[in-house]
Amino acid sequence: MKKIIPFNKPLIYGQESKFLKKLFLINEFSGNGFYTQKCSNWIKKNLKCKDALLVNSCTAALEMCALLLNIKEDDEIIMPSYTFVSTANAFTLRGGKPVFIDIDPNTLNIDPEKIEKAITKKTKAIVIVHYAGISCDLEKIIKIKNKHKIYLIEDAAQALLSNYKKKPLGSFGDLATISFHDSKNIHCGEGGALLINNSKFIKKSKIIRDKGTNRNLFNRKKISKYSWVGLGSSYSLSELNAAFLYAQLLNAKKITNFRKKIFFLYNKKFKELEKRKCIIRPTIPKNSSTNGHIYYIHVPKIERKKIISYLKQKLINSVFHYIPLHNSKFGKKNSITKSDMSYTIEKSKSILRLPLFYGIKKQEILHICKTIQNYFNERDK
Ligand SMILES: *Cc1c(COP(=O)(O)O)cnc(C)c1O
Repeated sequence: MKKIIPFNKPLIYGQESKFLKKLFLINEFSGNGFYTQKCSNWIKKNLKCKDALLVNSCTAALEMCALLLNIKEDDEIIMPSYTFVSTANAFTLRGGKPVFIDIDPNTLNIDPEKIEKAITKKTKAIVIVHYAGISCDLEKIIKIKNKHKIYLIEDAAQALLSNYKKKPLGSFGDLATISFHDSKNIHCGEGGALLINNSKFIKKSKIIRDKGTNRNLFNRKKISKYSWVGLGSSYSLSELNAAFLYAQLLNAKKITNFRKKIFFLYNKKFKELEKRKCIIRPTIPKNSSTNGHIYYIHVPKIERKKIISYLKQKLINSVFHYIPLHNSKFGKKNSITKSDMSYTIEKSKSILRLPLFYGIKKQEILHICKTIQNYFNERDK
């Protein structure tokens, strides 16, 4: 193979330009128009949430969660350290303190056994991340949430169309957030959604989205003039992005099925190397499904750099991620660490993410698996 295999390739599936052209005729480009409605209805139907607000990123949706929960100075929010910055930053912006705990080494999701010990009188919420689109142990987490009467937020940025016990992720928390960044399964460049399952947040969420105004009521002709009624910001997704996104959502099931096939092809091909104890494959727990967002393996941490350059030489791009937040420069000063972090530290050093995007060829996957096999064969010669 001569051409480099990229790690990710954002794609266009066909109707994006048609919908954009239609929008040019509609001639309304700001948020909450025709295509926003279409996308929002699609999300409500497919993710089984009470309401879905399209916003300009998952980061924005997380910031809205912090505003909705009225997070104040020194409120504590329990979350994994092994996650993207926005999960924590959104709450820190309001003066809240992320309380980091360790992950389950099999799923890289928050370890439910460690949540309860981290709860104090200051705890306002638990934020969970369904890493790689594979669900957290929701049964245990929901039990803890109910017992202690604290809010649950799902950072479902990576989890569109994944399930737990056949119910869509994003439908379990009081609130949930989705990302449509172009590194995710379904994208519109930059975009996201706030999903609401606890109805008490519906009214306020629109004020927050609409710059702190009750413009939503004005648009629906319920009041004659809108004004400043609370805290908010500019969180709506533009119709330009929504038109593009709607075309992608219409193909979401096709895209997800393709990605799942690739996930399971990788998984089959790596069985042998796992048996040889060269790598560890991802675990999908009994009640969880995957949406094929990420395929990763764990490699010996002292060899990861070498493996990445070996793959690069063979024209394969592989990446790793998440410098644990509790150990980051800013995180150290602005958070609390409430458990031993050995899995977070260990796994963040051994993870290796492999190319996965719609349209990647079976032959390319086989080439990647073979190359990794060759690496270990040469090493063990
Ligand atoms: C991608 C991602 C985000 C941020 O999404 P944006 O839409 O880029 O703001 C947040 N959390 C997790 C877990 C993510 O993977």
